[in-house]
Amino acid sequence: PGQASLLQQRFAEFLRQGVINKAEYDVRCRDGERLTVSVDGRVERDEHGQFRRTHCVLHNITARKRLEETLARLATTDHLTGLANRRHFLEHMVVAMARHRRHGHPTALLMVDLDHFKHINDGHGHASGDAVLRQFAETLRRVVRNIDSVGRLGGEEFAILLPDTDLDGALDLAHRLRGEVARAPVMVDGSEIRYTLSAGIALFRAEDRDTDAILARADRALYRAKQAGRDRVEVESAVPRGTRAG
Ligand code: GH3
Ligand code: MG
Ligand code: MG
Repeated sequence: PGQASLLQQRFAEFLRQGVINKAEYDVRCRDGERLTVSVDGRVERDEHGQFRRTHCVLHNITARKRLEETLARLATTDHLTGLANRRHFLEHMVVAMARHRRHGHPTALLMVDLDHFKHINDGHGHASGDAVLRQFAETLRRVVRNIDSVGRLGGEEFAILLPDTDLDGALDLAHRLRGEVARAPVMVDGSEIRYTLSAGIALFRAEDRDTDAILARADRALYRAKQAGRDRVEVESAVPRGTRAG
């Protein structure tokens, strides 16, 4: 299914070359089951060089493929929240940096840390803390656009990469997120857990050489939000702002 043109193209190539090795296809069986197969074969011709038939062996590599997919997912995903893990998020940032250098579109990074998270663990237990983190990840997914990337940088610290977004856009998202969290407490085992978040915003710059430079600016802004009393959004200091953070 969906691979007819690939099949045609490869078959023409197969006829030209006379052999095919380890060509992978997704196939659908008569009973509807989907498999991934690896094809090895050769072309048989008669004494005049006319095509007679092909001899092919199909290996069912479905289990191996699924395992590979699972491993790839595990390597890139945070197991608690299902968000991109730190390493994978940084890869998204590297791509965004290259794009930003090439096109110069504004790109923003929002770093978020949940406030006094230790109190949640202490007061409700670690499992409830985990539930809050999972719910927060859901809220994040809900408020971002599909071109944004969300990652869990570690513990109760998250980051959102916002392509084509200027300072006002990033502030808007940060405040919406803050509002969502403030409005909807998490229900865990029948008890209501309220929490707040602090956020720091940094904008990509053409001269940024690595992701650390941008992360450090967002982190400094986040630190100021904490210092100023938490439940706030702060912007990296060098950015002139038309919109007030807070
Ligand atoms: P602040 O407002 O300054 O950020 O205070 P805080 O208590 O949130 O910050 P701190 O960094 O002191 O503590 C973070 C806490 O988050 C401590 C750690 O046990 C908890 N934490 C980190 N990862 C997890 C996790 O996966 N699950 C749970 N339940 N707690 C976690
Ligand atoms: Mg915290
Ligand atoms: Mg923290």
